[in-house]
Amino acid sequence: MTTYNIAIDGPAGAGKSTIARRVAKELGFIYVDTGAMYRAMALYFLREGISRDNEKAIEAACSRIDISIRYHQGAQQVLLNGEDVSGLIRTEEVSRMTSAVSVYAPVRQKLLELQRQLARTENVIMDGRDIGTCVLPRAQTKIYLTAGSHVRALRRFKELEEKGQMCNLEEIEHDIIERDYRDMHRDIAPLKRAEDAVLIDSSNMTIDQVVDAIMETARTQGLKDDR
Ligand code: C5P
Repeated sequence: MTTYNIAIDGPAGAGKSTIARRVAKELGFIYVDTGAMYRAMALYFLREGISRDNEKAIEAACSRIDISIRYHQGAQQVLLNGEDVSGLIRTEEVSRMTSAVSVYAPVRQKLLELQRQLARTENVIMDGRDIGTCVLPRAQTKIYLTAGSHVRALRRFKELEEKGQMCNLEEIEHDIIERDYRDMHRDIAPLKRAEDAVLIDSSNMTIDQVVDAIMETARTQGLKDDR
């Protein structure tokens, strides 16, 4: 069977995971959150006390890391050396470390094949920064999802507030801008819109509207409802 792949890329806080999870549910696809895999690697480096600037130590540590994912009641769990770390990777500290270490080739190489393998065997909607450009260049549908940085910071602020985490809106916006800059300007697999990606700016759209827009795009690009 040829699998159908939907790639969603875009900057931090654009709503990629919320949207991708919804589209996956509607279509019966597997949702693959590649950011969670990078976050799990960053968590390992933090736990080991490895500095984000120590490229040698990061490269050496990569060989001690095993990342896998599994699905529990439809939700993706990410495993770091067999431990489910899904609940530990959503802090701002991990976000900053992740964007700092994801510039390194060994870190990216580690996850690339796992991501490709998933897309070969399942119909997936995969979100990240380099999915349409690098991981799945032949994805049938590619979306570049963005929104203004203030809107994205506000969304992240509300999300953290709901989880009872202390946060400051200005700091979040500052972190987001810094993270986007790093993600867009790194040498390997930088965040950019693939030439054939459909641009969606969700600043003034509801979640439903974005979900509908993506499903409509996929249908016009050949996705059949009976998959
Ligand atoms: O999407 P999320 O915010 O969880 O991603 C965290 C970080 O992981 C990003 O800021 C980026 O540095 C890195 N990442 C990446 N390539 C991906 C997914 C995430 O470099 N495909």
